[in-house]
Amino acid sequence: MAWCAVSVETLFRSRGKFPRYSVHSASVALYVHIPFCGKRCPYCAFYKLIWNPEDERRYVDAVIEEMAIYARSFGGIPLSSVFWGGGTPSALSLDAISAIADGIRTHFTVPDGIEWTVEANPETLTDDRLGRFSAHGINRVSVGIQSTLASELVTLGREHTQLSMDRLLDRIRSVGIDNINVDFIYGVPGQTLLGLLESIEWALHQRPTHISTYALSIEPGTIYAKTGVKAADEDLQLQMYRGIRRRVLQAGFRQYEVSAFGLPGYESRHNLSYWHYSPYIGLGPSASSYFKGVAYQQVSSLERYVLDPTPPVLKGAVALDTEGLGAHFLIANLRRSEGVTYSTIERELGAARWMPMDPAVKEFKRMGLLRNRDDRLQLTRRGVELMNTVLEGLI
Ligand code: SF4
Repeated sequence: MAWCAVSVETLFRSRGKFPRYSVHSASVALYVHIPFCGKRCPYCAFYKLIWNPEDERRYVDAVIEEMAIYARSFGGIPLSSVFWGGGTPSALSLDAISAIADGIRTHFTVPDGIEWTVEANPETLTDDRLGRFSAHGINRVSVGIQSTLASELVTLGREHTQLSMDRLLDRIRSVGIDNINVDFIYGVPGQTLLGLLESIEWALHQRPTHISTYALSIEPGTIYAKTGVKAADEDLQLQMYRGIRRRVLQAGFRQYEVSAFGLPGYESRHNLSYWHYSPYIGLGPSASSYFKGVAYQQVSSLERYVLDPTPPVLKGAVALDTEGLGAHFLIANLRRSEGVTYSTIERELGAARWMPMDPAVKEFKRMGLLRNRDDRLQLTRRGVELMNTVLEGLI
């Protein structure tokens, strides 16, 4: 059986409190894929290029045109959250940061105070970039720490150091952003449980509002895959997952999704949109969307994207078939700790989409991986640990 190694980025990549909004909400979560990095990490399968000013200029023009096409076709779509991921949004120039932020406010309807996250890494998150993000209303930063141990950072090809991390969260808070997520990877080759827990202790000492942890998975086409690097074995990964969970819950965080822990009130509203399978729009090359009942992905090529950034939903992308929609909906919703109510399943899927999955659901209940709690279907603790098995079974 496969141990849980699927991150939300893998499922949805283009990548609040429990929701107080309906899955029928007219507002949409907006993801902007920034396809630039300072260097290529050996484990990374996301679409990215090494930053250069000419490609950045072409990208910015194209992504603003893509926003304008959405506005011309659907009006100023109201947003529930904005998330810049990548790639490395903190590798952008100051002018590019402003142009993209202004473009979003021009072409979409952005209510005051919605969650607006930018992914960053410690190497590129300079004070002037932080100031620029804050000036544009960004109110949440997600930092890719991955590890605090020098040996693991070398293995991961990351260039930050303990020194560059130590003042990082204070620097972010100094511009008025106090909603901060830190990402960690576990299952790194050579990593030990103690080493991992040392990184987690560092995080707890820094007092972020949110912690995300991802199992390393060796994706095709990455440097790791090409050079035969292996992640830690499944048993060790499972011990690591349990160790992180135990320590982070002890520190007052609440697990609301398989890989996400938030202080009460700081669960990521943007990611919850994915996990409710609510509509989301992804801008930029390789970005995924689920909008107007259609799941689609932009071209994974800057060259083709700058020639024509028209969203696939306007170029004949077809709606998901009945079974596909049902499986996507259920897989997303089961990632949430609270699971999904049967009344939501009935309203969103109906019998036609539910019936093909019913035998697998019954079998997973019999195996102790799924359970009913009140009117909810949810993963058991063992089901969370064997989530890949459940998800694959439902597909
Ligand atoms: S910085 Fe992030 S997106 Fe860029 S190569 Fe590394 S892991 Fe991938």
